Amino acid sequence: MSGLSAIGGTNGEAGGGSLRARARFDNRDAHPGDALGIDLGGTKTEAIVLAADGTVRDRWRVPSPTGDYDATVRLIRDLAADAAARFGAPGSVGVGIPGAVAPASGLVQNANSTWLNGRPFAVDLAAALGRPVALANDADCFALSEASDGAGAGAASVWGIILGTGVGSGIVVHGRLLGGPNAIAGEWGHTPLPWPADDERPGPACYCGKAGCVETFLSGPGLAADHRRATGADLSAAEIAAAASAGDAGARATLARHAERLARATACVVNVLDPEVIVLGGGLSNLAHLYDALPKLWPRWVFAPAVATRLAPPKHGDSSGVRGAAWLGRQARPHPEKSSR
Ligand SMILES: [Zn+2]
Repeated sequence: MSGLSAIGGTNGEAGGGSLRARARFDNRDAHPGDALGIDLGGTKTEAIVLAADGTVRDRWRVPSPTGDYDATVRLIRDLAADAAARFGAPGSVGVGIPGAVAPASGLVQNANSTWLNGRPFAVDLAAALGRPVALANDADCFALSEASDGAGAGAASVWGIILGTGVGSGIVVHGRLLGGPNAIAGEWGHTPLPWPADDERPGPACYCGKAGCVETFLSGPGLAADHRRATGADLSAAEIAAAASAGDAGARATLARHAERLARATACVVNVLDPEVIVLGGGLSNLAHLYDALPKLWPRWVFAPAVATRLAPPKHGDSSGVRGAAWLGRQARPHPEKSSR
């Protein structure tokens, strides 16, 4: 999903603390090639300072101020001031959020961190930091990270999929995130499972109000629920993978159903997007059999005699969210240096 939004800094009142932060950004030790990336999660927030050549100057984590919007704005302001004090003012700031920014209103929507919803987060951050801040969905940040210098580096088109607690994805074409008027590009998790068998219809109920969404089959909880329906055993996705490795026939059958469904669901998008590389992320990207199984299953569903799409595990793993946020800010900068990409 894509909610790319860059809002210019304002000259409005922003409170004493942010004035202090702003003064720090004006210091003469600025590192215009550096990018500050912040990954705002539900329970923890991560920051990274990436040099122009991709070197990590530092990466650190702090708890997220759960349920408090103003404290969230202050936290990001303070992280930026901290980074500027230690490394000089970065050239750009990007923030990944568990939601999207509606292009028409500039308000956050669909955020699991519900205290962000309906708020003009980009405008408020720009006011607090005294500079533009780029915002995007966390799945978009994952895709951008892997496309920029990860498993999809150099590819013309990269589809980054997160298979975790939920299912999300982002699409990068020629190095740039695909976005649209609804800020939902890549919201593949809430499309129906294609070519369903009789016992897959209507499919499990989804929180979005529909049934049979891809997410209800392919996420970690979706995999666990499928195993429970088939065997009666209540295991997590990780426990199912371990049982399958130990030779458990029921667990192996569950993983085979999951892989076959993932092949169908991705084939449907390959038929539309024809991505050069698909990168898997999230906890289920650790299921090593997927990288062997999917290319073998695709020819049945992809409308091409030979499928050349490459499927890859993530290069940056858990770091991709925060790295992608840094790349995002660098992209959104009004006048990026040519050396930065
Ligand atoms: Zn759904």
